[in-house]
Amino acid sequence: MNDSIRKTMENLNKNRMESFFVETKEEALKTALSLISDGDTVSVGGSVTLNEVGILEALKCGKYNYLDRYAASSPQEMHDIFRQSFSADAYFTSSNAVTEEGELFNCDGNANRVAAMMYGPKKVIVIVGKNKIVKDLDEALIRLKTVAAPLNAKRLNKETYCAKIGHCVTMDNGKERDMTCGCRSKDRICRNYTVMGEHLPDRVKVIIVNEDLGY
Ligand code: SF4
Repeated sequence: MNDSIRKTMENLNKNRMESFFVETKEEALKTALSLISDGDTVSVGGSVTLNEVGILEALKCGKYNYLDRYAASSPQEMHDIFRQSFSADAYFTSSNAVTEEGELFNCDGNANRVAAMMYGPKKVIVIVGKNKIVKDLDEALIRLKTVAAPLNAKRLNKETYCAKIGHCVTMDNGKERDMTCGCRSKDRICRNYTVMGEHLPDRVKVIIVNEDLGY
C-alpha cells in the first residue's frame, strides 16, 4: 500500500467511513459480499467499476432481493427502483473521486445515486480503484471534468462538449474550478455535486482496490 492510499484510509476512518484495502478486483468482490447477508434487499448505483468487479452479476444469484435497475422494462419501472433503493439494506456504488482527506466526491445528472449515498440505505458499500484517489477537492473536480464526465458522457451517448472534445467546456473558459458553470446542455451529466465527509458511524464502507477500475 502506498502513502497516498494509507493517508486516504486513515482519513476515511477518521470521518467514520470504514475503509478496506484489497489488491485485486476479485478480492474486492469477496469483501463486498462479506458485508451483506442472505435475504438482504440490495441495490446499485450506475458504475463501470461495479461491472468490472462483478458485483452486478453476483447480486443476481438468488440469495438477495436485488432491485435490479438494469432489468427495468420502462423508465417508470427504473424510477420506481431508484425510489425503492432508498430503503435497501445495502447500496453498492463507486465514487467519482476519493480525496486523501477522506472525502467522497461525486457528481450525478439524475442524482439518484448521490441521494442514496447520502441518506436512505442502511449501508453504503463503495468500491474504488486506486486511480480515483486524489489529493484534495480541487483535484477531484479536475478529475471529474477531464476524466469521469467525458468518458461517462461518451459511454452514455450524451450530446455534450466533453463527450466530443474530452474535457469540460468550462476548462476552455478558464473556469475549471467552477462546479456550477457547465455546458448547460440538455444532456449535461454533471448537475448535482456532493462531498461526503464525516458520516454516520457504521453506515459507509469504502473498499480501495490496488488496481485501476472504472473512470
Ligand atoms: S458540464 Fe457538460 S461539458 Fe462539462 S463535464 Fe459536465 S457534461 Fe461535460
